[in-house]
Amino acid sequence: MTTWRNWSGSVVARPSAIAHPRTIKDLQTLVREAPKVRVAGSGHSFMPLCATDGLLLGLEHMEGEVEVSPDYDYVWVPAGMPIHRLTEFLWEQGLSLANQGDVDRQAIAGALATGTHGTGRALGSLSTQARGFDLVLADGSIVRCDPDNDPDLFEAQRVSLGALGVVWRIKLAVLPGYRLRETLQPMRLEEILEAWPDLVHRHRHVEFFVFPYARRALLKTLDAVNEGDDRPHPSWLETTILEAVCDLSAGVPALTPTLQRLLSLGLSGSVRAAPAHVIFPSERPTRFEEMEGEIPAADGLEALRAAISEVRLRRFPISFPLEYRVVAADDIWLSPMCGRECASISFHQYASAPWREAFAAVEAVFRDAGGRPHWAKRHSLASEDVLRLYPMARRWGEVRRRVDPQGKFLNPHLRDLLAFSVEGAPTPMAA
Ligand SMILES: Cc1cc2nc3c(=O)[nH]c(=O)nc-3n(C[C@H](O)[C@H](O)[C@H](O)COP(=O)(O)OP(=O)(O)OC[C@H]3O[C@@H](n4cnc5c(N)ncnc54)[C@H](O)[C@@H]3O)c2cc1C
Repeated sequence: MTTWRNWSGSVVARPSAIAHPRTIKDLQTLVREAPKVRVAGSGHSFMPLCATDGLLLGLEHMEGEVEVSPDYDYVWVPAGMPIHRLTEFLWEQGLSLANQGDVDRQAIAGALATGTHGTGRALGSLSTQARGFDLVLADGSIVRCDPDNDPDLFEAQRVSLGALGVVWRIKLAVLPGYRLRETLQPMRLEEILEAWPDLVHRHRHVEFFVFPYARRALLKTLDAVNEGDDRPHPSWLETTILEAVCDLSAGVPALTPTLQRLLSLGLSGSVRAAPAHVIFPSERPTRFEEMEGEIPAADGLEALRAAISEVRLRRFPISFPLEYRVVAADDIWLSPMCGRECASISFHQYASAPWREAFAAVEAVFRDAGGRPHWAKRHSLASEDVLRLYPMARRWGEVRRRVDPQGKFLNPHLRDLLAFSVEGAPTPMAA
């Protein structure tokens, strides 16, 4: 038995075997013969989505290249390819993704499975860019789903938590390559909150970071420009300072508010421009644990204030900043943004510091604000909550039952979370 760990180290699994198939035939045989299967992308999820005591698959060595469509409007991508390799390839072809998240280490299938998103009022999650999937189902058969072929499976697969089958190729919409100018500007939090309605309309992408005990925040905007080839800022100094502050906070929690006020006074502004795929990702070498609420956009700022008040009131020694972003509404059955534009509020804690109590308190704040959690980040949803929060959950469950009636792709976490989709599971009263 081998050990598998996620990026933050909080999920440890002991799969009976880990396999890295190279051909589609090998992948089909492995899936057909194993009684329990999970797939891992880059292991960046904080929830135990990849954990299994059965077979754990990694698709990073699978055969296949990126194929560009004749009109350069979509590409077929090997599902295990990390986003950074895809976006470098796309740039060489004169193409970019419409949007990206904070980091680009995730496998493209892993990112889509949980609705990974960036920021931008008019821009949906990466899952909104999916145009089709090639899947290996539980019996080892291959299917293609898209809006014309098995549209229900396609709809369910756009955000799937990896519970429907193993994706081995994804058809993804792309844009002509573009450059972005990044502006980082320290400002008083109150100033940002006042200007927010204007900021979200004025910039292609806008977000801010704020330490819960500080009054100053860092505003980040990205806008399309014609020129610029700046490289990322060397971040070792910031990383070293952040790690030192995290260690100090973890060791002497009472120092956290003072350290944060001092740190926020030292925030500095900057401007740079480069190809979009260079600007989007940041380096995140300091390991953290994370939760996130996708709140109806109109209630986002109020929820942020309430979360900060809760942290201060309960004196939680949170050493990381909160991150506030916006994401466009979509129509994906299990997407937290389904049917509503969202404010996305991320709440992090240093990986080696306690996080459970603070996360539970802030999750309650987000829930009261009508939030739906990010599937990959720490949450405590139960099956009945999923049914209440997601009007299309039952339809999603019908698809799951059809393609994997034995639950080969369900691990204990998914069996609980998606109990509504399992034959014979009690029907929650709330449904
Ligand atoms: C440092 C850091 C920064 C992050 N930044 C952001 C951000 O800016 N925005 C955001 O929304 N999220 C963010 N996340 C969360 C992250 O994007 C998600 O956890 C994402 O799902 C991770 O992708 P992964 O490749 O690591 O997938 P994993 O965590 O390995 O897997 C995620 C899910 O995908 C499934 N899966 C993977 N490959 C396949 C496949 N081939 N077929 C079927 N199912 C598959 C897995 O079974 C699992 O259910 C961040 C996480 C970290 C650690």
